[in-house]
Amino acid sequence: MTEQASVQQDQVDQLIKLIADLVDTDPCWYDHHGYCQAHFWMATEPRCPHARAMEIPEVAATLEEED
Ligand SMILES: [Zn+2]
Repeated sequence: MTEQASVQQDQVDQLIKLIADLVDTDPCWYDHHGYCQAHFWMATEPRCPHARAMEIPEVAATLEEED
């Protein structure tokens, strides 16, 4: 790995950890508009960021490690 790629990987690792700390692992709860009431997300596009964060494999793996 080049030095620049290594720095970028470190930044990605930091972001993954940050997202894992921010994400609420409680399940989303969508109302009839498709808005997430559990996380007060009033949009359908993009979907609730908590749902999207949990779909990132690295984030899910980080959360499992912390359990
Ligand atoms: Zn949600």
